[in-house]
Amino acid sequence: MLDIKITKTTNPKPLPTEDNPLVFGTIFTDHMYVMEYTKGQGWHDPEIMPYQPISLDPSAMVFHYGQEMFEGLKAYKTEDGRILLFRPDKNIERANNSNKRLEIPKIPEDDFLNAIKTLVKVDAAWIPTKPGTSLYIRPFVIATDPFLGVRPSDTYKFIIILSPVGAYYPEGLNPVKIWIEDEYVRAVRGGIGEAKTGGNYVASLAAQIKAHDEGYSQVLWLDGVERKYIEEVGAMNIFFKINGTVVTPMLNGSILPGVTRNTCIQLCKEWGLPVEERRISVDELVEAAKNGTLEEVWGSGTAAVISPVGHLRYENDVFQIADGGIGEVSQKLYDTVTGIQLGKLEDKHGWTVEVK
Ligand SMILES: *Cc1c(COP(=O)(O)O)cnc(C)c1O
Repeated sequence: MLDIKITKTTNPKPLPTEDNPLVFGTIFTDHMYVMEYTKGQGWHDPEIMPYQPISLDPSAMVFHYGQEMFEGLKAYKTEDGRILLFRPDKNIERANNSNKRLEIPKIPEDDFLNAIKTLVKVDAAWIPTKPGTSLYIRPFVIATDPFLGVRPSDTYKFIIILSPVGAYYPEGLNPVKIWIEDEYVRAVRGGIGEAKTGGNYVASLAAQIKAHDEGYSQVLWLDGVERKYIEEVGAMNIFFKINGTVVTPMLNGSILPGVTRNTCIQLCKEWGLPVEERRISVDELVEAAKNGTLEEVWGSGTAAVISPVGHLRYENDVFQIADGGIGEVSQKLYDTVTGIQLGKLEDKHGWTVEVK
């Protein structure tokens, strides 16, 4: 494992105060991690330095051809002052799966985890402690060759930045309204839908604007070929409880394999709920909504953990899910996952990793 050079800031920023709402992604800590890659040499010179702008050649390949990978996970401070990460091994594994698809060189797992832990320790004072808050960790890789032409870059930067974030739902879980998109698509099988990369997000913007203009907070994507099968929400995977069975779209190459998705599936199975990972058509969903067997809908992702869905819109119909409130399984998943993340519930699965 590589030694990380650490240079601390001589000019620390004031920490956010307790009453700061910590709007997601707006505040960054005092330090960042940077490691370079050079073809022939591999990853080298990892460094933690004061948070600062980076300087890149205008011809840097990331600006022109989008060769970029990112991840997202959180660090939590427990009531007794310990710092916990939640399943970081899953994020590291997925980062390298994304890297593989995007022709970005693999990052050694031990250097990756050491980078996260060391940076979080350096900026530990930035981990907020109010209920529901956490420190969001954003690792990413960019292609830096100064070159115009389509090929994988020979040089990269791997950077990690940290951002204290507030409770996603300050007043507790809050059901969202979701727009089932039947015009635009996000990804197709064989494309890059299962990689966590900026390109998938730029593809989603037009539909997101359309949905927001109509009063919906998120877009639910259908498959890119037939626009018939449910895929996922903007930055969340999606679950349905139909007639007592939990159903979620199977991973098919165009869906992002969420860590929270995997966690939900495992917990539901342990609770004795039947869980099916399979194709689910929008027609099946509409039918279940109409005949009253669609009991619950929720999204799963690191940012909100669980997002109950109160309403779904498809074509010209709006369906209310049950009473439009928070379902029983959604609430239980939220309480259990956040309980484990905060060290309040026993971690039977060994999901948390302490930073010390
Ligand atoms: C990150 C992400 C998710 C959720 O993944 P988690 O690991 O649960 O945070 C779902 N869909 C997309 C498109 C994403 O980028």
